[in-house]
Amino acid sequence: MSKLIEALSAFTKIMAAYHRDKLFKLNFAVTYKCNSRCKMCNIWKYTIKNPQTMKEELETDEIGQIFKGLGKLVWISLTGGEPFLRNDLVEIVQSAKDYCKIKMLNITSNGFNSELVADKTQSIAEVHVPLTFINVSLDGVAIIHDQLRGVKGAYDNAIRTLESLHKISNKHSNLLVGFEYTITPFNVGYFKALIDKLKKDSLEWLAKNSTITIYHQGNLYKNLELNTNQQTVDDLFKSGAFSDIGNALKLTNSWSILAWIKKTYLKHARKYIINGYSSLKCTALHHSLFLDPYGNVYPCVILQNKLGNLRDHQYDLLKLLKSENAMKLKQTVEACRKCWTPCEAYPSILTNLVSIVTT
Ligand code: SF4
Ligand code: SF4
Repeated sequence: MSKLIEALSAFTKIMAAYHRDKLFKLNFAVTYKCNSRCKMCNIWKYTIKNPQTMKEELETDEIGQIFKGLGKLVWISLTGGEPFLRNDLVEIVQSAKDYCKIKMLNITSNGFNSELVADKTQSIAEVHVPLTFINVSLDGVAIIHDQLRGVKGAYDNAIRTLESLHKISNKHSNLLVGFEYTITPFNVGYFKALIDKLKKDSLEWLAKNSTITIYHQGNLYKNLELNTNQQTVDDLFKSGAFSDIGNALKLTNSWSILAWIKKTYLKHARKYIINGYSSLKCTALHHSLFLDPYGNVYPCVILQNKLGNLRDHQYDLLKLLKSENAMKLKQTVEACRKCWTPCEAYPSILTNLVSIVTT
């Protein structure tokens, strides 16, 4: 019941921010360091090719300064790279809680380093952001997941991490743990095989806590040159993705607000796959933004149009949002329906509530 109240309170704040035309969500890649070798994302190559960039990532006190100016933020999504490789991850969360009083936090990890992820999650749970979601990526049964992630033993490590996190979540009512399955050309159609395997291994709790996302090419993932766009529009991809989405919908059968958002995401994902564009108005730049590890601000994780760098703007994100550059970009973004990435789709679902329930 307390989770329901927290969710209602968070969503009420989001709707209030929406009606005041305010920013309520920040997607923040805290680091581009990554210990994975994924096929569908090139972030891991970025710091190897550009080692000097590791020294250019925002310092803890700079991040604090950014949060200080964002008192009305409701929701922070921390991503990477592998966010848990950032030594000060817990301090970053604490600072978001202290300065912004955030209601929702989500972090996705590759789960390779079970001990590190579990230790930091324990501390993050104690910061007590009312709704804290930690997802570990799981893109198929062991042979598929390991191939896609480019690391032998990746599946076993992810499962070990998830089991540790599950134990922590049993002691912290604010912590929700699950896995994230990204539909890509490399694993499409194999979601059910993963669910069957989890059930066979007595991980029913995990099988019920999945988040499906669709693979995208974009600025964050440094994968614009990958030649997979053609594959994602072919009929084989579509039928496999429909089957994965159908199976995920069967598992999302509770009546909570969170389940409703997930179901809505999945139903609109089907439309996105058929049409090649999203059917909802996007919140990017109005209500959500993407911040990279070096202080660069973008409308979203996909577009490469930069608003500016916070180091050049006294770390004042709201001021940057009112700049001439931001105003011009708003017009571009307003008409954009290019993607259905959950980073923006989930807030878009919340702000399009009326049109969703009336269609
Ligand atoms: S998808 Fe995640 S884990 Fe894989 S390389 Fe990209 S950032 Fe790293
Ligand atoms: S629809 Fe366009 S503006 Fe919105 S998140 Fe996707 S690429 Fe960015």
